[in-house]
Amino acid sequence: MDPGLLRGLREILGEAGLVERRNQRVPYECDGLAFARQLPELVLLPRNTDETARCMRLLDEAHVPIVARGAGTGLSGGATPVEHGVLIGTSRMRAILEIDERNRFARVQAGVVNVDLSHAVEQLGLFYAPDPSSQKACTLGGNVAENSGGPHCFRHGTTTRHVLGLVIVTPQGEVLDLSKARAEPEGLDLVGFFTGSEGMLGVATELTLRLTQTPPVVETWLALFRELDEACECVSDLIRARAEPSAIEILDQLTIEAVEASVLRAGYPKEAGAVLLLELEGRESEVAAQARILEPLVRARGAFELRRARDPAERTRLWAGRKGAYGAMGRVAPDLYVCDAVVPRRKLRELVRETTAICEARGLKVANVFHAGDGNLHPNISYDRRDKEELARVLDAGDAILKACLAAGGTLSGEHGIGLEKIGAMEWLFTREDLAAMCRAREAWDPECRMNPGKLIPMRACMETRT
Ligand SMILES: Cc1cc2nc3c(=O)[nH]c(=O)nc-3n(C[C@H](O)[C@H](O)[C@H](O)COP(=O)(O)OP(=O)(O)OC[C@H]3O[C@@H](n4cnc5c(N)ncnc54)[C@H](O)[C@@H]3O)c2cc1C
Repeated sequence: MDPGLLRGLREILGEAGLVERRNQRVPYECDGLAFARQLPELVLLPRNTDETARCMRLLDEAHVPIVARGAGTGLSGGATPVEHGVLIGTSRMRAILEIDERNRFARVQAGVVNVDLSHAVEQLGLFYAPDPSSQKACTLGGNVAENSGGPHCFRHGTTTRHVLGLVIVTPQGEVLDLSKARAEPEGLDLVGFFTGSEGMLGVATELTLRLTQTPPVVETWLALFRELDEACECVSDLIRARAEPSAIEILDQLTIEAVEASVLRAGYPKEAGAVLLLELEGRESEVAAQARILEPLVRARGAFELRRARDPAERTRLWAGRKGAYGAMGRVAPDLYVCDAVVPRRKLRELVRETTAICEARGLKVANVFHAGDGNLHPNISYDRRDKEELARVLDAGDAILKACLAAGGTLSGEHGIGLEKIGAMEWLFTREDLAAMCRAREAWDPECRMNPGKLIPMRACMETRT
């Protein structure tokens, strides 16, 4: 790192805002895609928009690549550092700046942890609806960059539905204040452009987020099936019958075993081949009406038991088991490759079978826990990244799974993003013209492509279009 640049950054951030020593940079060398690693040259931890902008102006003058990082829980390598690049982390931007109860929004710094916002507004009868299973760790800035989902996004919509405004610092260090909360955006929707752009358009420093009213009644139901097939078919039945749960999640037998053997033991019966975790919410009469639709459907599809959480403690336990399932899979093998793809809901059963066959044909152990209501599959492959031959089989299975989902009319990611992991697969889904249009938008914004290079958009494919 150029000594003059380092001096300038130190003047802005002070010692506490710079992570320079090699051993202190190691924790930043990967995100949840643990096999992709690169040590960052330097990690910057600004406290606010102004410090971020001043640092980014210096980095612009020196033409240094930048990767933004929230909590590093991403599963597609979005926050993996790039060679000769710096990381800008948001871990010192943790303030909740404003809560407007009457207009139901909050203004927060980008490094606020997702669940902390819901806790902060709980007493007001409000909550922040997008609830990734990583919500106890991931940041709201990371959620915006990934347009994250979560179990309750089936009803409430993914992050993009909840972002009212942003303050962002562009790759050149300009501050764009798009934070005025408004019903309809005027002009070009830059907030929409930024949301889901995976750290490629700049660093978001402040977010204005919609808050949702806590429903008066919430019921969590557990339907137990002998076969995973039956649980998958039941999802389509529920939707066809207009039963409107706020969440529809499936856990298969291997996941149940792992959860029940862990500290997150939720009470999922081990004899079940699959469980369907459902949540109903609304006024008492609405919830009762939904339950009347749900019960006969679930039983007709073969559920051998249907039970409702008796109290908030049981409800919390059932959800903790679901949300902690990836962690519990650590009992099976040291690493977990979490595939993320979307298929039309009516093809859930077919694709779960096919993805399982793909893994088994490669001698791999796969478990399924997924946002079934959204058709968002997560085949989770257990492996050991130190075994290079096994890792190659895992990646090959991942590619085959994506191709099967695309062939079924699905798409590449439900929520974990493209990042490094699926950049090659973009060429399977999009035409050259589509990709070239994405490249042009990116280059207009960041001509040197210094923000998160090598992620999301395959620039190689775009260059080929021009020749
Ligand atoms: C156990 C587990 C469960 C998960 N469950 C879900 C789930 O249910 N739903 C879901 O959607 N995801 C889930 N994820 C994935 C992950 O938690 C989400 O993608 C999350 O939004 C990432 O947030 P983060 O703060 O960790 O971001 P990071 O991993 O640090 O970064 C993710 C991306 O966002 C960019 N970025 C981060 N902060 C900013 C910023 N301030 N400005 C601009 N760009 C930024 C980074 O450059 C990177 O490209 C899960 C992950 C784990 C480990």
